[in-house]
Amino acid sequence: MKICLEALNLNSGDEVIVPAHTFIATFSAVIQTGLLPVPADVNPDTFTIDPQHLSSLITNRTRVVIPVHLYGFPAEMSQIMEFSAEKNLFVIEDFAQSTGAKYRNARTGSLGIINGTSFYPVKSLGAFGDGGIITTNNKEMADFCLKYRNYGSLEKYHFEMIGFNSRLDELQAAMLSVKLRQLDKWIGEKNKIARRYIDNLKEVPDIQLPAIKNHFIPSWHIFPVLCEKRDELQTYLNTKGIETLVHYPVPAYRQPALKFLQVNKENFPVTEMISRKELSLPIYPGLSDEEVDYISECILDFYKSN
Ligand SMILES: *Cc1c(COP(=O)(O)O)cnc(C)c1O
Repeated sequence: MKICLEALNLNSGDEVIVPAHTFIATFSAVIQTGLLPVPADVNPDTFTIDPQHLSSLITNRTRVVIPVHLYGFPAEMSQIMEFSAEKNLFVIEDFAQSTGAKYRNARTGSLGIINGTSFYPVKSLGAFGDGGIITTNNKEMADFCLKYRNYGSLEKYHFEMIGFNSRLDELQAAMLSVKLRQLDKWIGEKNKIARRYIDNLKEVPDIQLPAIKNHFIPSWHIFPVLCEKRDELQTYLNTKGIETLVHYPVPAYRQPALKFLQVNKENFPVTEMISRKELSLPIYPGLSDEEVDYISECILDFYKSN
């Protein structure tokens, strides 16, 4: 993401709008480029940046919007692209959690001017170690990235600029290109698992399920539910041999590293609510119907006695 931002050649202190609810990496890239992250709250049903709140944050220093397709749910790209074109803002998609997801007929990572994803092993398309790619249709930006990630060089021993080493390992690339052929199949399987959970759990009053929308296909990086009794439910499921996670227990802007931004949490009621209530249920290709039903039954059992 840092290379994407460097490619835009902005001025120090320029403002970049990011979702308040995201993994800290989105904020870090902005800060490491000398820019100022300005958080916007997110939608409660799909967890992605709220276009309304976003539009209220524009100043004369705003240059970029970074929609994050969090949990694998595509952000509302039509509204974001239209608004950004009007205000002359660059759009950079952070599709680290949504490789392969579709927004209308487009893949996430194909809509912004320059976009980044991650191949960290647990992501939608995971390598066997760290890795990532940048996507762009802009020739100048593509050339910049190719040089910058290779010590400033496109031609052996000829250095046009100061760069560094951020190449994708060849071995990772080879393995990823084999896994890539399965990506749509895996996303299809995860969509079936998600529908089964939704069907099994739709009657539980304390559980708010993720919204299935017609205009996108999520990659289901995780399967998030929102519930008041999150911590008790998590402990209970653990005793039944079911591991769950929380994404994320503390919003990025409340982390010690971002204290200096002096973000007022009162302005982010949805992000605060999600960090209090979110629980990630198991979802991965190969998780069987029986397993999904077992997990669902354990959740129903928990609510019978709680
Ligand atoms: C994983 C992740 C990143 C960073 O990925 P790296 O491979 O560590 O660079 C950035 N943004 C989001 C939303 C992520 O989930």
